[in-house]
Amino acid sequence: MTTELSGTGVTPRAGVGRVVWYRGTTDLGDPPDPTTVDPEEELAAFESAQEAAHEELERERERTRDRLGEDEAEIFDAHRAFLDDPEITGGIEAAIENGLPAPHAIRRAFEDPIARFENLEGSMAERADDLRDVRDRLLRLVTDGDRTDLGDLPNGSILVAERLTPSDTAQLDPDVLAGFATIFGGRTSHAAIFARSLGIPAVVGVGDELAQVGDGRELLVDGEDGTVVIDPDDDARSRISDAEAAVVAEHVSTADGREIEVAANVGTLAELDAAAEQGADGIGLFRTEFLFLDRDAPPDEQEQYEAYTAALTAFPGERVVVRTLDVGGDKPIPYLDAPAEENPFLGVRGIRRSLASDSDLFDTQLRALLRAAGDDEDADGSLAVMFPLVVTVEELDAALSRVESVAEELAAEGIDYAIPELGVMIETPGSVFAAEALAQRVSFLSIGTNDLTQYVMAASRENDRTADLHDPLYPAVLRAIRRTVTAAHDGDAWVGMCGEMAGDPDLTELLVGLGLDELSMSAITIPDVKANVGNIDTEAARERAERVLDAETRETVVELLSA
Ligand code: PEP
Ligand code: MG
Repeated sequence: MTTELSGTGVTPRAGVGRVVWYRGTTDLGDPPDPTTVDPEEELAAFESAQEAAHEELERERERTRDRLGEDEAEIFDAHRAFLDDPEITGGIEAAIENGLPAPHAIRRAFEDPIARFENLEGSMAERADDLRDVRDRLLRLVTDGDRTDLGDLPNGSILVAERLTPSDTAQLDPDVLAGFATIFGGRTSHAAIFARSLGIPAVVGVGDELAQVGDGRELLVDGEDGTVVIDPDDDARSRISDAEAAVVAEHVSTADGREIEVAANVGTLAELDAAAEQGADGIGLFRTEFLFLDRDAPPDEQEQYEAYTAALTAFPGERVVVRTLDVGGDKPIPYLDAPAEENPFLGVRGIRRSLASDSDLFDTQLRALLRAAGDDEDADGSLAVMFPLVVTVEELDAALSRVESVAEELAAEGIDYAIPELGVMIETPGSVFAAEALAQRVSFLSIGTNDLTQYVMAASRENDRTADLHDPLYPAVLRAIRRTVTAAHDGDAWVGMCGEMAGDPDLTELLVGLGLDELSMSAITIPDVKANVGNIDTEAARERAERVLDAETRETVVELLSA
C-alpha cells in the first residue's frame, strides 16, 4: 500500500528509486546474526580504534594545554583512562567473543557505566557525558570505513539519512542518485541548496516517520510539493514526467526593456556545465568553500587559480562572481582546526575567519583570484569577487586593504594580475544598516537572503522548529532588502540577490519591483525565472512592491502577492 509522508521540498523535481540508508555513527541498527561475525577481525578493529582514539586525545590534550592551560587539559587524561578501563575494555572484548560486531560491542559495554554515573549526584553525574564522549569517539573511529560510500551509490538510489552535512552532499553524484530525503533539515540548509543546484529531487525535514522506511524499499521523492511516497503506485509515479520550462540562452529584459541578469549559484566545478545548460547569464555566486571540503588540507594557490579560471572559461564574456571562503557556521572544515563554538552561526565565520591573524588562507585565495582576473582574455568571463558575512565597514576596509597588499606583492614578484570588480554580501542586519557606506567602497552588493532572514528573524536556517519564521516574506526582511537596494543605487553600485529567494519564480515580479539588477540562483530554476522576467512591466512591479512593503504581516504580504 502506498503511504505518503510530508516534509519540505527543495528541488522542483521528482524521482523514484530504492532506499539506501546513510546512518550516523551511534545509529547502528540491529546487530547481525552472530555466526556471520568474525571475532578476531572485530577485536582487531576495536584495538585499532582504541589506538587511534589515544592518538587523537593526546593531540587534543596538547592543543588544549597550549590554549587554555594544564587544568583544562586534564579532562583528556580522564578520557584516556576510560579508554583503558578494564571494565569497559573487558566488556567490549566479551561482547565481541559472544558474537557482536565491534561497534555494537562498544555501545553495549558503555551502557552500564553510563547508567551508573547518571544516577549519581552533582559533578559525578557529568562523568556520564565524558563516557558518552569516549564511546562516540570510538564508534566514529570504528565505523568510519563501514559507512556507505556516498560517492559510490548504486544507480537509481534514493539516499535516506537523519541529516546530511554540506560535505556529505558534495560527494553525491546526480547521475546515479534518484533523490534524497532526510528526517531533519530546512529549505536553506546547504544540503538543500546543493541538491537544488545539481537538480537532485530532495525533501528535507520529513520527521521521524522516515526512520521506518527500510533499505531497499521503493521510495518516490517529490521535491516540488514536499512529499515522500513509500511504495508509490502508478498514480504517484505520474508526477515524475512533469514538463520543464524551455531554456533561454540570451540575457532577458522586462516587457519595457529593463535588463535583469539571471545568473547561477555554484559550489563545484561540476555545476558549471549544468548552469550553462540552463541558460545562466554567468555566475552570481561561486561558493568557494566547497573547494575546501572533503580533504585533508586546503587547496593551494595554483589549484584555486585553476578552479577560478575554469569558471571564467565556462562563461565567455559573462560575469563570474566568486565569493571568498565562507567557513564556519554549518560549514566547519576539520583541518582548519578552529575551536568548537557554542553558537557557530554567531561565531568566527565568513570574513571574520578570513581576517583572523592566524591564517594565510585569505591571502592565498586573493592571490589566486587576482591572478585569474589578470589573465582574463576577451574569450573568458570577467571576474568579480565578494566578501561574505561582512557586518562592519571596518571589516570591508580591512578586506580591501588585503586586496591592495596582495596586488603589491604580485607586482613585486612580476606576476600578472588585475584587481577584479569587488563587492560585499549583505547577509546581516549590521550590513543592511551600513549599506550606504559599504556601497560607496565597492561596485556591487549581493543580498544573501538565507543568512539575512536567519539574522533578521533570529531563526536558525537549520532548525526545523523555527522554519516558519525563517521566511523572507516577513515585512522585516523585505524592508531590509529594499533598504539595501536603495543604498546600493544611491552609491552607484549594482545590487543582486543570491539567496534562495532569488530563485523562487513566484517572487520574480516582487524582486524586480524592489529594484534588484541581478538574480542568482540554483541552475534548475533559471528557465522559469527568465520566462517570468519577460512578462514584467517594471513600473507596475514597482507599485506592487511598494504596496507589499507597506504590509504589516506576512499574511498580508502573501495575500498581496497572490492577488
Ligand atoms: C545566503 O546566505 O543567502 C547565501 C547566499 O550564502 P550561503 O547560503 O552560502 O550562506
Ligand atoms: Mg550566507
